[in-house]
Amino acid sequence: MDFDHSERAQLLIPQLERFMAEEILPNQQTYYDQLVHSNDYRQWRVPPIMEELKAKARNAGLWNLFLPDEQYGAGLDNRDYAPLAEITGRCPIAPEVFNCAAPDTGNMEVLVRYGSPEQKERWLKPLLAGEIRSGYSMTEPAVASSDATNMKATCEVDGDEVVINGQKWWTSGAGDPRCKILIFMGVTDPGADRLKRHSMVLVPLDTPGVKILRMLPVLNSLDEPHGHAEILFENVRVPLTNIIHGPGRGFEIAQGRLGPGRIHHCMRLIGASERALQLLCQRGLGRIAFGKPLVELGSNRDIIANARLAIDQARLLTMKAAWALDKRGTFGALNDISAIKVVAPNVLQHIVDAAIQIHGGEGVSDPELSRLLGMARALRLADGPDEVHRRQIAKLELSKYLRKS
Ligand SMILES: Cc1cc2nc3c(=O)[nH]c(=O)nc-3n(C[C@H](O)[C@H](O)[C@H](O)COP(=O)(O)OP(=O)(O)OC[C@H]3O[C@@H](n4cnc5c(N)ncnc54)[C@H](O)[C@@H]3O)c2cc1C
Repeated sequence: MDFDHSERAQLLIPQLERFMAEEILPNQQTYYDQLVHSNDYRQWRVPPIMEELKAKARNAGLWNLFLPDEQYGAGLDNRDYAPLAEITGRCPIAPEVFNCAAPDTGNMEVLVRYGSPEQKERWLKPLLAGEIRSGYSMTEPAVASSDATNMKATCEVDGDEVVINGQKWWTSGAGDPRCKILIFMGVTDPGADRLKRHSMVLVPLDTPGVKILRMLPVLNSLDEPHGHAEILFENVRVPLTNIIHGPGRGFEIAQGRLGPGRIHHCMRLIGASERALQLLCQRGLGRIAFGKPLVELGSNRDIIANARLAIDQARLLTMKAAWALDKRGTFGALNDISAIKVVAPNVLQHIVDAAIQIHGGEGVSDPELSRLLGMARALRLADGPDEVHRRQIAKLELSKYLRKS
């Protein structure tokens, strides 16, 4: 296994770190000050500082770093992207600044790999330019969606159109005023083989019959201006040419999409864990109780040491998954991706919990710690709950022995 970064990545790392220090971190508070908080998502606005920062990042060549395809993006492989994504993970607004934020990254990857020339021209181009944003509608309120074959929503072919019906929720990003397109997944042919029943369809958000019912709170935050929408699709008609890669190819695309998407989250979670540990250490060194800095009390040094061990192990596991993805593709890296998808959010959740604890009462009211905790907790569910990934890991482990017996 080779975790070395290319010369190009080694040049990009300090450049990105400088951009973070000089442009993003000093403007982070401005971003949050400019946010419009409202229960009505239609009132939400994109903080103007975001578009200013995006323009600067694009001019600096720090753009679409996640895309391994050189024709469309930076052309870095996953091993090279990992340290960059980790740096952006230290600040929640950073990934978007570099046009590297979910769910657009996964959606762009789908269009690069599976989109028709017209689909690329109409939707990929403005996504790559950071002019619009997108959502991914797979999860449904009515069924246990961690088993994606449960999906009930339909997208039936009717002549040269597709007719879409059903209810989805947790479509992240659909509250953003710039969100123009959804990738919807539903059943096209209920009689087909289990993994060939579904299709992915491009559905412009302003198509008649698409109705946003509400934005779901995540631990009491609506995550403005991004939002996580519950959406009703009622006799929505789009051209047949909006099906991606042809009818019945939904699962094939989903696997391709979720591989890189999942690992990108994990790379950023390592950076978020580093940030949580930094906050923990700074607080522990700077506050005195019982005549000593907090880090000298009880088992606080052990907590810090264990956090360091956990982050370094998670980083190595992430690099292993990145290496496997580069070498063997998504299907050859499924187990490694599942492993890090379980480990990374749990490591962050554990460390941020300790950081909150050492901050005392202030810990539960600190907005940055709350955001980090929310991120960790949600990512133990999004892109598949921990248990589903453990199931995949156990399946492979057991297969070694079942084959022998
Ligand atoms: C913040 C956030 C953002 C999201 N963004 C998106 C998005 O953009 N698009 C989208 O389509 N979806 C999105 N999701 C949805 C997410 O992918 C689903 O919530 C997840 O796949 C679980 O599906 P479910 O909610 O239906 O839970 P269920 O399938 O009902 O599962 C509930 C629980 O059952 C248990 N369970 C399930 N399977 C097993 C098993 N094999 N073994 C043991 N226990 C098990 C687990 O504890 C699991 O958490 C998002 C979710 C969150 C929280």
